[in-house]
Amino acid sequence: MRFPGFCGNEALKMRLSAAGDRLSHCYILEGPAGSGKKTLAGLLAAAMECEGAGDRPCGTCSACRKAMKHEHPDIITVDSDKATIPIRLIREMQADAYIKPNEGRRKVYLIPRAGDMQGPAQNALLKLLEEPPSYCAFLLLTDTSEKLLETVRSRAVTLTMSPLSRQQLSAALREREPGTPPEELDRAMDRSDGYLGAALTLLHTPDTELEQKAQALADGFASGDELAFLSVLMPLEKLSRTDFLQLLTILQRSFVRALDPGRETVSSLSRCSRQQLFDGARAIDGAISLLQANGSSGHAVGHLMAAMRP
Ligand SMILES: [Zn+2]
Repeated sequence: MRFPGFCGNEALKMRLSAAGDRLSHCYILEGPAGSGKKTLAGLLAAAMECEGAGDRPCGTCSACRKAMKHEHPDIITVDSDKATIPIRLIREMQADAYIKPNEGRRKVYLIPRAGDMQGPAQNALLKLLEEPPSYCAFLLLTDTSEKLLETVRSRAVTLTMSPLSRQQLSAALREREPGTPPEELDRAMDRSDGYLGAALTLLHTPDTELEQKAQALADGFASGDELAFLSVLMPLEKLSRTDFLQLLTILQRSFVRALDPGRETVSSLSRCSRQQLFDGARAIDGAISLLQANGSSGHAVGHLMAAMRP
C-alpha cells in the first residue's frame, strides 16, 4: 500500500479514522530520512492507544496527549546506539510483550531503525510476529522494506511514504517557515525530493560547495558576461567525474525550474530568454551524457565552453 505524503495531520487523521479499529498489528513504514515516518508512527501509535469515541487519534484524550508527549508507558521505543540492533533488545522486547499493558488498550513497540536488525534479530522478531499477544502492535521504520526478511514483510502492512506535490510542499513550508525568502524555499524544495522533513532540514543547512559552484555557474551564465562565466567554468575541470555530474544535476534543476512557466520566484536565470535557457539546458544535458559515457571533466568543461558560453 502506498501512503501518500502529508502536509499536516488532518489528511492523515482522515485516513487513520477510516481504518478505525481495523488497524493492523504490524506496520512497516518505509521512506527516506525526512519523509515523515516518525510523524506517521507517532500518529499510528496514538491512534492505537486513543480512548476517544470518534476519530482516532482524537488528540485530546489523556492517552493521545501522553502519546504525543512521548510519555505513554505502553508505547515503547526499541533502539540502541550501536550500528545494528542487538538481538538482546529483541529478546527483551519479546519477554516484555507477554506482560499486559500498563494502562493502554495496546502495547505498541516502535523500532525506528528496523532495517538495522540483522538476520538473527529479525528471526527473533518474526517469532513474536507469528503469535503476538492480542494487545501487541509493532511499528517498524526503515528507509526500505527490502532490508527486512520476506517472512517479516509478509506479516506486516507496508506503508510507503511518497513525496508531496510541489504545490503541497510549498504550502506546507510557507506555513511552517513564514518570512523565509521564496528563493530559499524553492532551493530547499529542489533538494528535498518532495519530502517535508527533508526540506525543513535543508532550509537550515548551508549550501554544499557543489551547490555554491552550480549557483555561481548559473549566475555567470545569466550575467551574459563571458569572462565571468569562464572564470567559474574553467576550474571545474579539476573536479572528479562524480562531483561534476552532481554539480551538473543541480545546475540542470535550476534551468528546469527557470523554464517552468508556473514558477513564482525569481532567480538570476529569470533574466534569460526561454531560448537561452533551452540552449543552456541542452548544453548541460550534453555534458552530463559525456561524463556518463566516461568522458573526463576536462572534456565536459570543453563541451560547456563551446555550447553554453553566453
Ligand atoms: Zn485520543
